[in-house]
Amino acid sequence: MLIVQKYGGTSVGDCQRISNIAKRVLETKKQGHKVIVVVSAMSGETDKLIGYTKYFSSLPNDREADKILSTGEIVTSALLAIALNESGYKAISLSGRAAGIKTDNIYTKAKIKSVDTKNIEKYLDDDYIVVVAGFQGYSDEGYITTLGRGGSDLSAVALAGALNADVCEIYTDVDGVFTTDPRIESRAKKIEKISYDEMLELASLGAKVLLNRSVEMAKKLNVKIITRNSFNNNEGTLITNEEQIMEKPIISGIACDKNQARIGMVNVDDKPGIAAEIFSSLADANINVDMIVQTIGRDGKTDIDFTIPKTDIALCRKLLDDFKDSTQSIEYDENIAKVSIVGLGMKSNSGVASKTFSTMASENINIMMISTSEIKISMIIDIKYAELAVRSLHSAYELDK
Ligand code: ADP
Ligand code: ASP
Ligand code: MG
Repeated sequence: MLIVQKYGGTSVGDCQRISNIAKRVLETKKQGHKVIVVVSAMSGETDKLIGYTKYFSSLPNDREADKILSTGEIVTSALLAIALNESGYKAISLSGRAAGIKTDNIYTKAKIKSVDTKNIEKYLDDDYIVVVAGFQGYSDEGYITTLGRGGSDLSAVALAGALNADVCEIYTDVDGVFTTDPRIESRAKKIEKISYDEMLELASLGAKVLLNRSVEMAKKLNVKIITRNSFNNNEGTLITNEEQIMEKPIISGIACDKNQARIGMVNVDDKPGIAAEIFSSLADANINVDMIVQTIGRDGKTDIDFTIPKTDIALCRKLLDDFKDSTQSIEYDENIAKVSIVGLGMKSNSGVASKTFSTMASENINIMMISTSEIKISMIIDIKYAELAVRSLHSAYELDK
């Protein structure tokens, strides 16, 4: 079999841990499989590198930032290759570029355009364990790019897809995908199997156990993902097609995202084209706008509220400066959280919205914004109630049972 294994930041957090990972990788290799290992930077390393770039500017040059950010994964990949070599096995580390991961040139959040597997295949054929630095690729211009936070998951799935791997194992610091973040609710249960669509929603809504774009790509390329704990041998969670899941719970999981900020534009001129102008300006700067709420216009004025990733606030402020003459004031609120419930069964069950809102009401939690899709309901609330909201919903939907 061809197996892709990805190890996250905590799993490669120091040299001792890298040495433990080397043992796990070798167990797989000794079973006769071809192995590609994708690694993250040591935990905390990427934050540290970002800190360096912010020392000089709140908006550092993206291309330069990527060059710095990519080094975290370079270090762990080479350390793991050295550890594997030391055990007498052939192993080689490859940067994103050497692994053939080609991206667009949107630095710091690049999208993968293609993977040229020639180099990797050459080493696999020669019986090497190939260790790839996750989170990075190279642009049309030939420069280093990074794929956005949590991007090593995407590197792993992209390689698994391009090489037609039998499985992509994502190793992390929890046993798999749980009904909610086990660090928020200790009674959360591990899910045995979950559909790509539900996992995509959970991941997009804050369950960072998998990067949403990696799930999207896995679905498209039909990559079988298993998330597992790198610190034990427990069975993990399989992410697969909806048809493979016999019983579809109404609610599969609850997600919480504290990395969003709410922008409130008060008394904006209510005239055709204004929303288009605002959101085009953000889109052109690659700012990902999530929820949008506009009130009914009164006296030629309207309020527009929306959410964006906190990391884009500085850039957003700069862009919205162009609109200060068409609005009374602009609020930037970082103290919010988005809490969401996700489940395929919502499609065919009524009353989910009312139960969700009643649960919030019974805890006296005010809901600022709401958005829904076929299989999810999301609410923006005050960040200080995030954990309480997650636990109350988890128990209201009996996910601990
Ligand atoms: P890695 O560094 O291995 O990529 P991450 O920190 O990105 O790991 O993701 C793992 C973390 O995701 C867990 O430690 C857990 O706190 C968090 N998490 C959030 N939601 C969930 C969930 N529904 N199931 C499992 N883990 C979750
Ligand atoms: N090291 C990167 C990050 O912290 C990528 C990853 O770990 O997936 O976001
Ligand atoms: Mg991660």
